[in-house]
Amino acid sequence: MKETKEFQTESKEILSLMINSIYSNNEIFLRELISNASDAIDKYKFNALKSDGKLPIIDHEIRLSVDKNTRTLTISDNGIGMTKNDLINNLGTIAKSGSKAFVKKLKEATDKNDFNIIGQFGVGFYSAFMVADKVEVLTKTANGKAFLFTSDGKDSYTIEDAKKEETGTNITIYLKKTTNEINYDKYLEEYTLKGIVKKYSDYIRYPIKMLCSHQKKKIDENGKELDNEYETIIEDETLNSMIPLWRKNKSEVKDEELNNFYKEKFNDFEDPLVSLFVRVDGNITYDALLYIPSHVPYDLYSDAYEKGLELYSKGVFIKEKCPELVPDYLKFVKGLVDSPDFNLNISREILQQSPMMKKISENIEKKIVSRLGELMKEDFDKYTKFFEAFGEHLKFGIYSTYGAKKDLLENLLVYHSLVNEDKYISLKEYKEKMLSEQKYIYYASGDSLDSIKLLPQIEKYRKMGIDVLLLDKKIDEFAIMMLRDYDKIEFKSITDESANEITEEEKKKIETVTNENMRLLDTIKEALKSEVDDVVISSKLVDAPVCLSTKDGLSLEMEKTLNEQPGMNNEVKAQKVLEINPEHDLFKILSTIQADDDTIKEYASILFDEAMILEGREIKNRGEFISKLNSLMIKAFKK
Ligand code: ADP
Ligand code: MG
Repeated sequence: MKETKEFQTESKEILSLMINSIYSNNEIFLRELISNASDAIDKYKFNALKSDGKLPIIDHEIRLSVDKNTRTLTISDNGIGMTKNDLINNLGTIAKSGSKAFVKKLKEATDKNDFNIIGQFGVGFYSAFMVADKVEVLTKTANGKAFLFTSDGKDSYTIEDAKKEETGTNITIYLKKTTNEINYDKYLEEYTLKGIVKKYSDYIRYPIKMLCSHQKKKIDENGKELDNEYETIIEDETLNSMIPLWRKNKSEVKDEELNNFYKEKFNDFEDPLVSLFVRVDGNITYDALLYIPSHVPYDLYSDAYEKGLELYSKGVFIKEKCPELVPDYLKFVKGLVDSPDFNLNISREILQQSPMMKKISENIEKKIVSRLGELMKEDFDKYTKFFEAFGEHLKFGIYSTYGAKKDLLENLLVYHSLVNEDKYISLKEYKEKMLSEQKYIYYASGDSLDSIKLLPQIEKYRKMGIDVLLLDKKIDEFAIMMLRDYDKIEFKSITDESANEITEEEKKKIETVTNENMRLLDTIKEALKSEVDDVVISSKLVDAPVCLSTKDGLSLEMEKTLNEQPGMNNEVKAQKVLEINPEHDLFKILSTIQADDDTIKEYASILFDEAMILEGREIKNRGEFISKLNSLMIKAFKK
């Protein structure tokens, strides 16, 4: 007897959308149907195990079969099957939260034809109607009768008695006619089906089989292969690899396998620098494969680069890039997460807000950071390689979170330093090697290591044997500003006015020289009032006549970086102090000859430009500088 039933209202809404869908990602219907088949096999196995032998233990498979004449694709499983009531309850109504959320979203959507939202939801069985104008479900439970469910996905469906020997379900899809816009015939092609299975269902635990054709060399009577004579052989092929690497026993997975998987999956020709296989069983349960590439991905800095990890649930692919799973500063990390706690039908919004997601992501962040910490101890050279490629991201992590990640990340930072020459030094090591009377962790910044080493202020540190961190990345000082200190020792820029390792004796001497030269200093200050805040006698210099330091934490390097930002019209100004070396001959002469104010002012401007050059900065007006210098030389010869 054939019964006709109406779909539930909410189901009709989804169905009408599916029927009219020209959604370009309609291939996901196969993922949905294969997942259902896999779930059905899970259920059969579960029942068989607790049936005390009443339900036989059998080999399970999912099968795809194609009939080009009828233009049908059938997905069969020997799983649990459905009773008549199951058909009505499971296929005639939507019971699932995912679909309910979808209907709600659909009702809210201003443009009802925004098919993109389909892709955000796994709408399960109904997705078949994206590609089908008729679907038949032939099904039988172990001890029940067989039924045939048929629907065109419009208002109603029919259920009738049917014939089927084996337990399980066959879902037959009558493909829509191919149009100019969409090719449905491709779902009859071996090639397409193989590709879709690989993409979405490679790690389904049961074999997904299909009859496939192969070209084979013909064989003669003696069993010898004939050249250039081929025949087409049709044989069963398993399309999926079944066991995801990350679901294997951790101890069975070799590093080489992890690396090969990475290269294949993420299209890299080089082994990753670090691979991590994480398995967490507890409040949250997930497996993860995490990789740090051994070189900067070519597109990392392009706008098109998306951070994130792949997301799976029980081996079934859900989403390619889940940005929620890694913090921005780890955007270079590649990999995947598989958690049984995520459900296939979950919507993007629900995913984003999911507290699980947040927990997993925090967990992953910690795992990566602690692995990097280990690497630093085990193999500093390798760690250095990592840091050269991605160290700036860690600094960015500290800066962009206003120091909230200080504790997590500070021990991963390494810097070049004055004493250590071209090798990197960690903050811990710097601290251990500090001189007993040293108050600060000193640093100096500039465009390049070489230009930093030429800073006039650095000479004294070199002489005293105090190490200075050399910061040549734009982000450096900004990150250090957020760190403030390391293990209670403050950072201090050697170009900061207050940076000084000075004895009482030296202090006194400076005071005396300052008092003796008040008028000279005031005149220079007056001459440079638009450039500097102060002019002082310095205790920081060895060979150089002058240097520029800054007050209030904004360095010359930061001033430059900030002014380079789009829309900045040199608005940022560091508070500059011109420091003069009292031991330098130039100062001594100026101090004794008591030149007239105009001459001093001319000297002042040259000294300022000299200081700028020594700090590795551009001088404002080169022409003016040169003509002043020349006029001084001419004066000297005239005398
Ligand atoms: P979900 O899989 O999220 O429950 P679907 O729309 O994909 O949602 O499927 C609805 C229900 O239909 C399933 O929960 C299951 O009970 C039933 N079902 C679908 N396909 C099969 C199948 N191949 N064998 C047995 N039951 C199935
Ligand atoms: Mg499903």
